[in-house]
Amino acid sequence: MFMPLKKYIKKRNFRQTPEPKGKKIKSKNDRLHFVIQKHQASHLHYDLRLESEGVLKSWAVPKGMPKPGEKHLAMMVEDHPFEYKDFEGIIPPGNYGAGTVMIWDKGFYSPKNKSLDEGIGEGEFSFILEGKKLNREFSLIKFNKGGRNSWLLIGKGNNGNGEYDNSVSAASGKTMEEIAAFDKKRKG
Ligand code: MN
Repeated sequence: MFMPLKKYIKKRNFRQTPEPKGKKIKSKNDRLHFVIQKHQASHLHYDLRLESEGVLKSWAVPKGMPKPGEKHLAMMVEDHPFEYKDFEGIIPPGNYGAGTVMIWDKGFYSPKNKSLDEGIGEGEFSFILEGKKLNREFSLIKFNKGGRNSWLLIGKGNNGNGEYDNSVSAASGKTMEEIAAFDKKRKG
C-alpha cells in the first residue's frame, strides 16, 4: 500500500465504488497537474486537488473557487491518488462521498515561490492555475480557528474574459445531470 493514501483507501470499498484504487502513478511530464471536481454529495462542494510527490493534495471548498479579492473556506482532506484527476462519474449510494462527481476544471499549476509540500508545512501557499476555465492566481492560508484542517482559499489576479461555461465538465462537456444519467445507463 502506498502509505500517503492509507486514509483514502481506508474510507472506501473498491468493490462498490468506481473511484481509482490508488496506485502511485508518476506524472508523465514535469508539469504539475491540478483538478477541481464539482461534487454533489450530501452537500454540494468543490474539491481542489494539486499534484505533489505522486499524489493529489486535496481541499473541499463548499462555496467553490473564489473570485479575485474573495476568500472561501477550504477544508484540507485526505490525499487522493494521482489518477483521481481523471475521475468523473457516480460514487454509489452508501459509499463515502456518495453522489455525482464532475471534472469542473483541470490543467496545470505553477507554485509562486515554494513547493506545495513546503507551503503546507508553513501554512501558506500561492499558485497560478492554467486550466480550461481558471487562469489566475490563488493563495491558501492555514488558520487555526475552527480546526486544524481549516484553510482560507483567496482569489487573486483578475477574472480574464470569464467566458467559460460554469455548468459543464472541462473533460466531457457534460452537465451534472448528464453525468448522472450516463452512469445509470451504463449500469443498465
Ligand atoms: Mn468531495
